[in-house]
Amino acid sequence: MSTLLRKDVPASCKWDPSHIYATQEDWEKDFEWIKEQTGKLAAMAGTFAQGREQVLAALNLYAEAGEHISRLYTYASTNLNSDNGDAFYQGLGARAMSLYSQFAAAAAFISPELLTLDSETLNAYIADPAFGDYDAMLKDLERMRPHTLSTEMETVLASAQEALGSAGNIYDMFTSVDMKLGKVKNEEGKMVDLSHALYGSLLESPNRNVRKAAYERMMKAYGAYGSTFAASYAGNVKADVFNARTRGYQSARQAALYPDDIPESVYDNLLSAIHDALPILHAYCALRQKAFDIPTVHMYDLYAPMQKGFDGKVSYDEAYELLLEGIAPLGQDYVDIVRAAKDQNWIDVYETPNKTTGAYSNGAAYGVHPYVLLNFRPELDGMLTLAHEMGHAMHSYFSNHNQPFAKSDYTIFVAEVASTCNEILCIHTLRKKYAGNKAAQMALIGRMLEGFRTTVFRQAMFAEFEMKAHAMEEAGQPLTCESLSAMYYDLNKTYYGGGCRVDKVVENEWMRIPHFYNAFYVYKYATGFCAAVALANKILNEGEEAVAAYRKFLTLGGSMSPIESLKVAGIDMSSPEPVISALDTFAELLAEFSELMD
Ligand SMILES: [Zn+2]
Repeated sequence: MSTLLRKDVPASCKWDPSHIYATQEDWEKDFEWIKEQTGKLAAMAGTFAQGREQVLAALNLYAEAGEHISRLYTYASTNLNSDNGDAFYQGLGARAMSLYSQFAAAAAFISPELLTLDSETLNAYIADPAFGDYDAMLKDLERMRPHTLSTEMETVLASAQEALGSAGNIYDMFTSVDMKLGKVKNEEGKMVDLSHALYGSLLESPNRNVRKAAYERMMKAYGAYGSTFAASYAGNVKADVFNARTRGYQSARQAALYPDDIPESVYDNLLSAIHDALPILHAYCALRQKAFDIPTVHMYDLYAPMQKGFDGKVSYDEAYELLLEGIAPLGQDYVDIVRAAKDQNWIDVYETPNKTTGAYSNGAAYGVHPYVLLNFRPELDGMLTLAHEMGHAMHSYFSNHNQPFAKSDYTIFVAEVASTCNEILCIHTLRKKYAGNKAAQMALIGRMLEGFRTTVFRQAMFAEFEMKAHAMEEAGQPLTCESLSAMYYDLNKTYYGGGCRVDKVVENEWMRIPHFYNAFYVYKYATGFCAAVALANKILNEGEEAVAAYRKFLTLGGSMSPIESLKVAGIDMSSPEPVISALDTFAELLAEFSELMD
């Protein structure tokens, strides 16, 4: 718990929500205005058959009110997140949320009613300059038409979704509330209750007995409920397959990728490139044998850091200067805006009582500026988190400045590209700064290697698990504890077996991955990281032209499909090339790291 009180934090290190609304009265006035527009919007339902003017009026109203409600909510959430115990802003947040629900309900007719218009009419709107702000949305809608059902069917499907999603709710309740993980010895040799939060730090323990005990306890705790987890997960997979089939998709995976306009080849290319690179992952895992002086590397040895003796102590001001140096290749105007962000109170820097934990960037206050929440720790990790969140913030900044509100929001598929790219650029600068410092080089390269292992390889293995589990269901094979665990164990042997001993107990690990209840999502972590590595390489090696392409990408928001917008940046994710190039970087970094270890 922090001892720093909010009132003692210098004003320059706190964000300023009054940039959104100067006074509480302004917020209240906007609240009333949005409420009024919500009523007007609801009254527009059923008018689209009357023609172009009615459709355009509804879309304009929807976008304008949507823009206001984004600001309304961001004002409440920023004020609240800096002190979540504040009763006044709790109330404001709840009011904004409830208004948002009313607004969403009032707008729910728009997409289905647009689809009652024929393709010719929709395509005419797409080509009509007056509909320019909505062309991306209308194109997506038209693309979804073959998988959109009759109004009656859509109503039935919508009302079934809560029940179809209950496996995920049961899973969350069980794992976060009812399930007990048992006791385990901590660093001090004391028996303590194992928790999900504690697990991560115990796995990083330099004491091998501690990490082994935590790992085994966790796997066994889940394994004790194997049949329950299998039934729950099978229910979720069946719901995915049911939804996909009902909408006329060939597979659950196709159904998951289609709305973002991601070809399935992206997924296949990722997995095939990863498989080709597994020998490098094996070599990386095996390094721990020497680093820890152990006869065999086990899965529980993979999380403890191999390098010691460098913490990269850095104050916030120093970290900010390093960030500015790191992003210099992106151009002076980019640097100037990031510098201004610090002086103009975009960022809430320090941990204070009741502040939201972790870090995020919120770009939803369209027309104002992004807000960035940190809990800054004065070390390498804190510096890179700052770089990461400012990457998100600048992506929002440029998209918001170059796109109308309706096209400003970028998709998850590209969301981690700008943030990861900034981190890599900063690591590059830090490596130059600490040239000749072996411990620093190992820590910095080690950070990248861990990024590859956890964000690329591990997420790709998860992606493969989901793909196989859904294919099993689609082929009519039973999803049982036995079949799922056997499949997961085999995957682990493939991914890690060449570099470490894969103990049988890992077969239970799939049970503790909550992302599996949101299928075909995690592959985006792997592709996003690879895209960022490929882009950072271009920015550092190819100069001006590569920078201009990347900068253009940052302005695109949601105006194009994610694959098309990354093509603007200069990388084609529909080809295997960017993933292969990123994995080449992994191999190079690993070679450097091994050399430093000698
Ligand atoms: Zn991020």
